[in-house]
Amino acid sequence: MELLRFDMSRCDLCGQCIEKCPFGALRMEKDGIAVGDKCRMCSVCVKTCPQKAIRFEQKAKSFDKSKWKDILVYAEQENGGLHPVVFELIGEARKLAEKVGYSVSCVIVGGEGTRENAEKLLPYGVKEVFVYQHPGFEGFKADCYSDAVADCISTVRPSCVLIGATACGRSLAPRLSTRFHTGLTADCTELRMKENTDLVQIRPAFGGNIMAQILISNTRPQFATVRYKVMDKAKKVPDPAGKVTVCPVTDLMVRSGIRIVERAAIRRTKSIEEEDVLVVAGRGVKTARDVEMVRELAALLGGQLCFTRPMVEGGFGDAAHQIGLSGRTVKPKLIITCGVSGAVQFTACMNAAQTIVAINSDPEAPIFRIANYRIVDDLYQVVPELIARIRAAKEAQ
Ligand SMILES: Cc1cc2nc3c(=O)[nH]c(=O)nc-3n(C[C@H](O)[C@H](O)[C@H](O)COP(=O)(O)OP(=O)(O)OC[C@H]3O[C@@H](n4cnc5c(N)ncnc54)[C@H](O)[C@@H]3O)c2cc1C
Ligand code: SF4
Ligand code: SF4
Repeated sequence: MELLRFDMSRCDLCGQCIEKCPFGALRMEKDGIAVGDKCRMCSVCVKTCPQKAIRFEQKAKSFDKSKWKDILVYAEQENGGLHPVVFELIGEARKLAEKVGYSVSCVIVGGEGTRENAEKLLPYGVKEVFVYQHPGFEGFKADCYSDAVADCISTVRPSCVLIGATACGRSLAPRLSTRFHTGLTADCTELRMKENTDLVQIRPAFGGNIMAQILISNTRPQFATVRYKVMDKAKKVPDPAGKVTVCPVTDLMVRSGIRIVERAAIRRTKSIEEEDVLVVAGRGVKTARDVEMVRELAALLGGQLCFTRPMVEGGFGDAAHQIGLSGRTVKPKLIITCGVSGAVQFTACMNAAQTIVAINSDPEAPIFRIANYRIVDDLYQVVPELIARIRAAKEAQ
């Protein structure tokens, strides 16, 4: 790797560094020691070498960006299928690729059924899907999944790698960016491609007060994780011409320090990102009993109850139902906010909803700036009235 240097005038080829490297990243070659892309810069070899022949090269060297092209999307699998964020990433990648004449490919890793899932990506206009299928990839294991994706990146040399900001994606992306000694921008909400192939990665920063534009201008690949439900889903293309390539899986790739002891199915409830109707309880909702009133409204509309952060911190709801920068981003057809002020950290993650109805007794509340329907009134009057009317309408049907 670029950052580890060997002084061959000192090295006597004793091989101790190869033996001690915990990641099998070093190998003996005829002209000295070579470093592979498994190196994680742990510095064990530097400390081991009796000749002090190894050092880290800290200076950024000139980097030939033209050797890295196209966009690679990590196709995450979930419960035997493809995670829906994958189709959003492909949609976005295709738009970005078009600007600079790149193509879009995918990499998919997993156990049985992975190849079948790879085939499902071809109608969405991807050029190639690289498949790493092996029983050892059954269940997500961050270490060996990173090995497989790193193998693909080393072969394909993409300019950009897009990964869903899911629990698995958030675990995978930093491992990969560290391995390739390049940058990663987490949780992007917008991406733009510059003519020189630098990816402008946009995400809220400083508590959502600014939208930071982040560039990885000196290295490749450019890694970005993107939240689910932020980008538009890819549309199928009329004449898909892509192909599936099955990649060899080595024993080393499936060697994992993670052992899956037990797998227990959790009852799958719709996540708030997938829901069409959401009703939000903010701090204007005072007690647990009042929260139940708002929950009833959500249930009558066939949706789910969500919360602002202070409500979650107050123990009224769980983190999986929190909307906002430190919670989830949602894009439902209808969202009704009850007693929510509309702080930017909240609105940044729900303002793409199709219809926003806000109930707040303060006419100056910032939530009204983005609401389609504004109800300036006491929620303790409005919510029971809405419940009564919806109930009556349902009974009349
Ligand atoms: C780094 C950072 C990250 C954050 N992340 C998040 C996040 O993920 N999600 C999030 O929600 N917040 C987040 N916040 C906090 C955010 O700034 C706000 O403090 C929070 O969203 C306010 O929640 P609220 O609207 O429920 O409460 P408040 O701001 O207290 O608003 C309560 C509203 O209820 C109205 N009201 C009161 N009584 C009634 C009534 N009877 N009828 C009608 N209306 C009534 C009031 O007029 C008021 O507008 C974050 C902050 C920071 C700094
Ligand atoms: S820095 Fe660590 S991972 Fe890299 S070659 Fe040396 S011992 Fe191996
Ligand atoms: S430990 Fe040092 S001297 Fe021995 S092979 Fe590695 S670099 Fe050379």
